[in-house]
Amino acid sequence: MTDCAKQEAETYRGFPVIEGCLAPGGTPLPRLAARIGQTPFFAYDRKLISERMAALRSNLPPDVQVNYAIKANPMPAVVQHLAGLVDGFDLASAGELMTALDSAMPAERISFAGPGKTPDELSRAIAAGITINAESERELESIARIGAEMSLAPRVAVRVNPDFELRGSGMRMGGGAKQFGIDAERVPEALRWIGRHGLDFQGFHIYSGSQGLNAGAISDAQSKTIDLAIELAAHAPGPVRKLNIGGGFGIPYFDSDAPLDLAAVGQGLAEHMPRARQGLPEARIMVELGRYIVGEAGVYVCRIVDRKDSRGQTFLITDGGLHHQLAASGNFGQVLRRNYPVVVGNRIGQDARETATVVGCLCTPLDLLASKMDLAPAEVGDFVVVFQSGAYGLTASPTAFLSHPAPAEVLV
Ligand SMILES: *Cc1c(COP(=O)(O)O)cnc(C)c1O
Repeated sequence: MTDCAKQEAETYRGFPVIEGCLAPGGTPLPRLAARIGQTPFFAYDRKLISERMAALRSNLPPDVQVNYAIKANPMPAVVQHLAGLVDGFDLASAGELMTALDSAMPAERISFAGPGKTPDELSRAIAAGITINAESERELESIARIGAEMSLAPRVAVRVNPDFELRGSGMRMGGGAKQFGIDAERVPEALRWIGRHGLDFQGFHIYSGSQGLNAGAISDAQSKTIDLAIELAAHAPGPVRKLNIGGGFGIPYFDSDAPLDLAAVGQGLAEHMPRARQGLPEARIMVELGRYIVGEAGVYVCRIVDRKDSRGQTFLITDGGLHHQLAASGNFGQVLRRNYPVVVGNRIGQDARETATVVGCLCTPLDLLASKMDLAPAEVGDFVVVFQSGAYGLTASPTAFLSHPAPAEVLV
């Protein structure tokens, strides 16, 4: 086994460090790799997930509920862990429905959003009794037809495409022309249609963007969302019982990113909540978060299999790569490639440094985990750790590309 460097440090990016080795869940990497039986692997730290949820609870108003968007990390063990910590699950596929229903989360606290739901997916969701966030008028018609065939009154919420977006977000998912939701100006008509067709109206889902790091922008979008929901509620066939105001809480992926000021988001929401309580007295108000809950609690770990110099540059070649952690390579929606936080996981706190480029084992120059980074000098057999890998890691990566083995996943 690779030795841990003898260095003192208590934690690094929230993870324990034991004798210079990162220790997700309290187990130093060499031993963790030995017990998993392979590298590469993803390790998610349950304590860090729980602490993040505790921080959300203490900063958000007490009557704001927190849902987990399963697509951020659908590992069943993670979803099971979160079932006891969050107020609901948000799904984006029937596959995620299976995972959610295997947990202790009651069906009435599960909702299903996403464009292009097939009749099969809708039938399964209706049979399960979860809320379907309808993305179009045609989808509403399908839901009503399938509900009638099954003699069930499907629970529906309307996903609204607002006429604003989350300023500065990494991914805009509302405002302008979008494939998501029903345009706000068409929602009153859709609500009347729901009333005439016996659907069990639950409320609204208004999602304006992802990966926001500016508390003011998030707060602004939340305020507009609450106002829009109150306005639309006047056309609803019944009381609004749920208002999902979206999420968009981002995490700092790069050195240049400042973490989101959660206290400021909480204060902003506390200022807007009285309007929501008064205008929508029967509604549960919820945010839906993915990466903010799990993203920073996960690491991707691979092993150095070769080290070489090429015309003055040092390359560390690992058994991992973009087929497992696409986002860290810069090929998942980034315009400009920047390095994720990366360390040599068994040499934390070591004083000696070198500049090295960390690559994966794929035959493509795109397969980059860190470019010209300042790292502890590493040897073959050492561990490379990519942080911020708890969300959109394994399931957002092209694992079949080049037919290498799949990475392991553990919750520790
Ligand atoms: C993907 C998605 C989320 C989660 O986004 P994060 O950026 O991971 O918080 C939440 N809601 C909807 C509708 C989504 O599509």
